[in-house]
Amino acid sequence: MNKVCIFCGQPPENKNKEHVIPKWLMKLTNTENKIMSVGVNWEKGEEIKFNFSSFTFPSCTKCNSDFSKIEALVKPIIEKILNDDFVTSVDLVMLLDWFDKVRISLWLGIQYHNKETFNLEPKYYSSTRLRLKDRMLAITNCYDSYKGLRWTGTNNLCFIASPTCFTLKINHVLFTNCSMDFIVSEQLGFPYPAFEKKNINDDKLTDFILHNGTEKLSTKIFKTELYKPTMIISQPIFKVANDFQTNTYDTDYVKK
Ligand SMILES: [Zn+2]
Repeated sequence: MNKVCIFCGQPPENKNKEHVIPKWLMKLTNTENKIMSVGVNWEKGEEIKFNFSSFTFPSCTKCNSDFSKIEALVKPIIEKILNDDFVTSVDLVMLLDWFDKVRISLWLGIQYHNKETFNLEPKYYSSTRLRLKDRMLAITNCYDSYKGLRWTGTNNLCFIASPTCFTLKINHVLFTNCSMDFIVSEQLGFPYPAFEKKNINDDKLTDFILHNGTEKLSTKIFKTELYKPTMIISQPIFKVANDFQTNTYDTDYVKK
């Protein structure tokens, strides 16, 4: 993996540095000067430790400034959640975008520090993986006195192969974030995959052949229940690219 922009995957234009953990979040959690384990070097079997404020990744100046707008909008949303204040559905969609970004940034960070070992060319970057697949966020108020920032689930081979799920603890609130193709669509009554078939234009990709949705909301989004979050937000991402099977989405239920 070469030195590329964390957002667009191209050689950084007017090179800049993006903090994987944004400065406002370090301030909010009192972690600006904390040293944190951010993963493992799998070849040496050694922990990779960083001072939070120097855990950065190259980026283009423009990509960085585009994304700083999301950061500015997300900061008050996280603060509201920490204070148990009301958030709107627009806030929550913005929050899901931000979690896509943080999850993929942590993944690119680990990939970058293991570039000799895995030698995988990432298929996604922080801006190209945004809003691409169904996503969910479980929010749990732990009512503890923890002040800090930590994440789990990123330091394993599953996450390195497929960065779909991780948790982030911000002070006393735990966020569990997950995103992959159609993880919530079927349960929300929307079209869902019957099977996958090879993409005729790209042998690394597959296309989903879709079933019509049941048009009914299931009360249970996931079969397993690991813990009881305070709230779960689920958002389906419709696959209507390239005018493929658009009739599946041409229903009153979907439009409503
Ligand atoms: Zn860029």
